[in-house]
Formats: sequence, C-alpha cells, structure tokens
Amino acid sequence: MPVDPIRSVLIVGGGTAGWMTAAALAKIFGDQALDIRLVESEQIGTVGVGEATIPQILLFNRMLGIDENEFVRATQGTFKLGIEFVNWRREGHSYIHPFGSYGSDMDGVMFHHFWLHARQRGYEVDLPEFCLQIIAARQGKFLRPVPDARNSPLGHIAYAFQFDASLYAAYLRRYAEGRGVTRTEGRIANTRLDPETGHVQGVQLENGETIEADFFIDCSGFRGLLIEQALKTGYEDWSSWLPCNSALAVPSENTGPPSPYTRATARKAGWQWRIPLQHRTGNGHVYCSDHISDDEAANILLSNLDGPALRDPLQLRFTTGHRKKFWNKNVLAIGLSAGFMEPLESTSIHLIQSGIARLMTLFPDRAFNPVDIDEYNRLTLQEYDYVRDFLVLHYRQTERDDSEFWRYCRNLPLTDHLARKLALYQTNGRVSREKDELFNETSWLAVLDGQGVVPQGHHPLVTGLGDAEVDARLEQILGAVRASARQMPSHADFIANQCAAP
Ligand code: FAD
Repeated sequence: MPVDPIRSVLIVGGGTAGWMTAAALAKIFGDQALDIRLVESEQIGTVGVGEATIPQILLFNRMLGIDENEFVRATQGTFKLGIEFVNWRREGHSYIHPFGSYGSDMDGVMFHHFWLHARQRGYEVDLPEFCLQIIAARQGKFLRPVPDARNSPLGHIAYAFQFDASLYAAYLRRYAEGRGVTRTEGRIANTRLDPETGHVQGVQLENGETIEADFFIDCSGFRGLLIEQALKTGYEDWSSWLPCNSALAVPSENTGPPSPYTRATARKAGWQWRIPLQHRTGNGHVYCSDHISDDEAANILLSNLDGPALRDPLQLRFTTGHRKKFWNKNVLAIGLSAGFMEPLESTSIHLIQSGIARLMTLFPDRAFNPVDIDEYNRLTLQEYDYVRDFLVLHYRQTERDDSEFWRYCRNLPLTDHLARKLALYQTNGRVSREKDELFNETSWLAVLDGQGVVPQGHHPLVTGLGDAEVDARLEQILGAVRASARQMPSHADFIANQCAAP
C-alpha cells in the first residue's frame, strides 16, 4: 500500500511537553514537508513546576544539538547528582539515590555483593561511601565526567539538571521557532470531530480561527483537551498505589550556594521537594488531602523553607494514573495530558522525552495503522508500570508508622513485578532490570538499601575470593572514591567557571 505521509501536526499546549515535542519534531523532520504548528494560551498558562530531571535528558539535549553550558545559563540551571530522601525510612534518616554506580563491578558480579559479604562479617563502612556522586553531593561538589579517566570514578560521573521550568519552555520555544515551528497564541474553545472516523479534524480558537491538521499532539496538561475532553478516552486511576492527590508549590530565596541534588523530605501525609536553582529554590509539598488539610499542608511547606518565600503557594490537584490509551485515533497525549505520577523520582519530563522517542519510532502515516498505535500504547503502559512500582517501593518499605498516611503506605498492594524485585533482593541481594525499564540496578539498589531492606545472603561467587582479598578490594575502591571527590570543584565554582556568559 502506498504511504500517505502526514503533512501537518498541531501541538496543543506550550508547556514543557508542548515545546519539547515541537523542538524534537523540528529537529528530526528538518526540511521535510511537515507543517508543525503549536497553539498555546497565555491566559491559561502552564503548570509552572517540573524543574528536576534525570540523566536521560542529556540524550535529548544531544539529539537537539544544544550547547550544555548555554542551556544551563539560559535556564538558571544547576547540576544534579541524585536525590536525597530524608525521613523516608524513619524520621531523622537520610540517603541519596545517586546517578551512577557504587564501586565497580568485579569478575562480572555487581559491586554491592562484595560489600554485602564484608558487611555480614561486621564491616562497618556503609554502601553510600563507595559512590562518588553521593560523596560529591554531600560535599556540594560537581564535575562532568573526565574523558581520559576511564579507570577512575571521575570518568563515570552521571548527572542531570535542575532548571527553571518557564525558562526551559522559553528556551525550547526559541529553538523550535528558529527551525520553522509556527506558534499561535489563543484559547481553544471547540474541537471538531470527523463524524465517520471520530478523528479530530480541527480546533477552533475563541477568536473564531480554525486550525486543521492531520495529526494532533495533546500537550494541554491535566485537562487533556483532545485526548479526554474531545475523545473521552478514559483514565486509569492509580490512587490506591499512589494516594497523594494535591501539591502546593512555592519558590524561595536562595540562602547559600545551590546543592547539586534534589531533596525529597517525607512529611506527615506526603513529602516536600527542594530544587536548588541559580536564582532561587523551587519548593513544593505533595500530599494526600484525605489525611491533611490544605492549610496544614501550606503551614508545613512554609515553615520548612531554607529562605523567604517569593510568592504565595500555588495549589495543584491531580489524580495519579494515566489515560486508558496514550494514543487514540489521530491524537497522541504527551506530558500531563497522558498521565501523572508524583515527581518523587523526577520522572515526568523523562516520560515526555520517551514518549517523543517512541513517537519517532512509530511515526504514523495518514492511515493511522492501529498496529503502530497499539504498540505505542503497550510500550508506554509498560514504562509507566515500572516507574509506578519504583515509586511504590519508597512508600511501602518504610519503618514509619507515626501517622495514618504512613500506616496506609506500609500496606500498599504489591504488583507481581515489585514482589519479585523485593524477593530477589531480600534473598541474595540480587537486583534485576526488566527490558526497557527506566530505572537501572543501581537505582533499585539505592532505594532498597536506603529504605532499610537487608538481604539474607549475597552472590555465591564472592565467597570464593577469600575475605582478605575482598577487604583489600573494598579499601582500594574507597580510597579511589575519596581521592576523586577531593579533586572536584565546588558546584557553585563549576557553574561560575563553565556556564557564565562568555
Ligand atoms: P502544562 O504545563 O500544564 O501546559 C499545558 C499547556 O496547554 C499550556 O501552554 C496551556 O496554555 C495549554 N492549554 C491548555 N488548554 C488550552 C486551551 N483550551 N487552549 C489553548 N491552550 C491550552 N516533572 C519532572 O520531570 N520533574 C519534577 O520535578 C516535576 N515536579 C512536578 C511537581 C508537581 C506538583 C507537578 C504537578 C508536576 C511535576 N512534574 C515534574 C511534571 C511536569 O511539571 C510536567 O510533566 C511538565 O511541566 C509538562 O507539563 P505539560 O506541558 O504537560 O502541561
């Protein structure tokens, strides 16, 4: 059958999702005959949060071909080596989920098995001491990986960014418009459907203008203007797993140099984020309104800021979960219109990025073959499922029972996937990664160890080495990590030296 290419795409919404999609399409389609248009409403505005990322965003930046220092400068960005989880295991306890590994694998066995073996003999050094990203984060240091240091922890530093969401959207807008994307300012009032196929034919703005397209990308945020309001796709509610349903967000003044990590502090009925940027700190309180009032949540947030608040908190409501179909007919939902899981592990921007990547692989022609659409939906749901299970792990493996919320979380239902992961680790300290799973073995290990899960055994191969050899190897790695941290500049100095205006 002859291929009938898509000639026009309309992106509905100009938040992070809309402009990331526009920038990626503009780059990838280049000079091809594809009309890319984006409509957004300043009156409605954007959600205005979403400022912490994970290392995969480096791939997105690389694909766009943008200069990283310029990007950090334009978005008042900072570098991120991981996420600190405070009070999650129990009050007063803290651990960091680092980007990058612990120690180095030996003889084909993951490093932590050697540590577990020593630990079970009374070795006192904690696992995080073997991770350069954690040591550097705690010391407020940062460095990009050193290219010619392959045998040193300095050669393997993984990182992400923290940035101002509105500056990020503005940056991508300049990029996309510079490559031919047309932007229309206006509020969509109506959507017209094809009476035969049920496909979206066009949208009508409040000023009467009609915009038609072959393919629509719904980036309209929680409201899901096309995917839900027009196509009535339906929503899968995940509140029984992730019960938080509200957030309050507020920026505050910086009181010192920005830390190279995001912080998530567990509170009575949810948790509080702190995202340090160059010009301010982003803060928010994610909570479950069944267990705490909005006023109390606001008090908790405002009384736990490092510096003075820069405005009143912004209230947000959500239901965790996802659309029953991420792609329905000729509408693909990307961003908050597709679904939402709380930003505990900074996954939403990544889910936008992976949605765009999957779209590129399965980009339709005007026939909109259901096989492609089904595959997109299957892969996206699988990715969401794995992320959800990782988030549930943080809540479920807690020792906290000081509030109704935490007592509920301790008993969250386990999916088969999460039950299998837990059993594997609890038995012999093994961590596995499913195909196409976002979080790797190190991430699972960081949270399992951080939340206090202790394996009964370890990989049997380690025993064959002998105790003295294992201890010597551990000491060598510990020395290398500490020496590497000493060579790193402070995070603030790194930004000042590398990312200042030329
Ligand atoms: P929005 O920003 O809401 O944009 C919607 C767009 O649609 C706007 O431009 C709006 O004007 C337009 N629009 C809507 N209706 C119409 C209409 N009728 N006509 C015309 N235009 C219309 N993600 C992370 O990765 N890391 C984080 O740390 C993080 N923290 C978060 C904290 C909270 C509390 C929340 C709620 C989310 C967080 N996220 C985070 C998610 C992140 O904010 C979003 O994934 C990201 O901002 C994308 O949003 P969006 O573009 O889908 O929606």
